[in-house]
Amino acid sequence: MRPAPTIAIVIPCYNEEAVLPKTLPLFLGKLEELARNEQISSDSYLMLVDDGSRDATWNIVSTLARHDARVRGICQSRNRGHQNAVLAGLMEVRNRCDASISIDCDGQDDINAMDRMVARYREGFDVVYGVRSNRDTDSAFKRSTAQLFYKLLAWLGADVVYNHADYRLLSAQVMQELANFREVNIYLRGMVPLVGFKSCEVSYERARRIAGSSHYPLAKMLGLALDGVTSLSIKPIRLIIALGALISFFSFIGVIWAVVNVLAGWSVSGWASIISVICLLGGVQLICLGVIGEYVGKTYLEAKARPRYIISERTQHMEDESHLEELQ
Ligand code: UDP
Ligand code: MG
Repeated sequence: MRPAPTIAIVIPCYNEEAVLPKTLPLFLGKLEELARNEQISSDSYLMLVDDGSRDATWNIVSTLARHDARVRGICQSRNRGHQNAVLAGLMEVRNRCDASISIDCDGQDDINAMDRMVARYREGFDVVYGVRSNRDTDSAFKRSTAQLFYKLLAWLGADVVYNHADYRLLSAQVMQELANFREVNIYLRGMVPLVGFKSCEVSYERARRIAGSSHYPLAKMLGLALDGVTSLSIKPIRLIIALGALISFFSFIGVIWAVVNVLAGWSVSGWASIISVICLLGGVQLICLGVIGEYVGKTYLEAKARPRYIISERTQHMEDESHLEELQ
């Protein structure tokens, strides 16, 4: 069995001033409990990633960090989205812990599942996925759209873990390998399975947000879904080829039918049918162009290879450690 690891709990926060005062004591309590039971080492800590919040989030983080060495934080220069924030946190801690656990800061994910995650890690697993056992607390709409999203992803050839959000344990080795994935369009749920290593799941019940409101309205969720599909699989392009072949086949039959009509001297009826076919094909072509365009756009962004996150500030502890690393 592996020895009790140093754990870094990576927590993305965006405009969470209402939530942090309630959930931070819970996270710290969990660290204390696990250390007391000798499940984790006592130098485990929280890594809070402020994703360019416009409220007092960074103030809360930096103030707490001054008083408690187990609280560390980095601040992003602007809002870059949940995925980039989690990645920034993981990259920051990868040389400073044995394993990380990423979790949302809003108290929706059950922190008690961490006990089982750590136990699994100590048994030898490098990736432990937190999987929701139910979605009763989400609205019926969010539940059904999320379900649809997973089904769609699976059908489109993207390998994702069913009902797994971004609550997971990663060993330091997995994080090192993840650092070699240089893509700019980040979708961690799809990338982690690609890294491989021994993985398992622990299930937990998802609760309601403790305070504040979700940052994922329908439009953002659709964006994430589209991003997820196009960054994990090229099956949509293959589907276009299949669709094109199907339409060409029917058009070919149509042409033969038209020729037979002319030769037989039957009148070819009205323009309505012609117009509707033209409209249909116009629509289909635009959709296909859109799908291809999505990939071209992604390639453009990848080619520019801009930084995936920019850290503008660190709490004192992290600064000290970076200096040490530079000296070594
Ligand atoms: N979050 C972030 N950047 C963003 C949006 C959200 O870091 O641009 C964080 C947020 O603070 C929370 C987590 O990502 O810790 C999940 O967000 P949220 O709870 O709003 O999403 P939901 O749980 O409704 O899917
Ligand atoms: Mg949430």
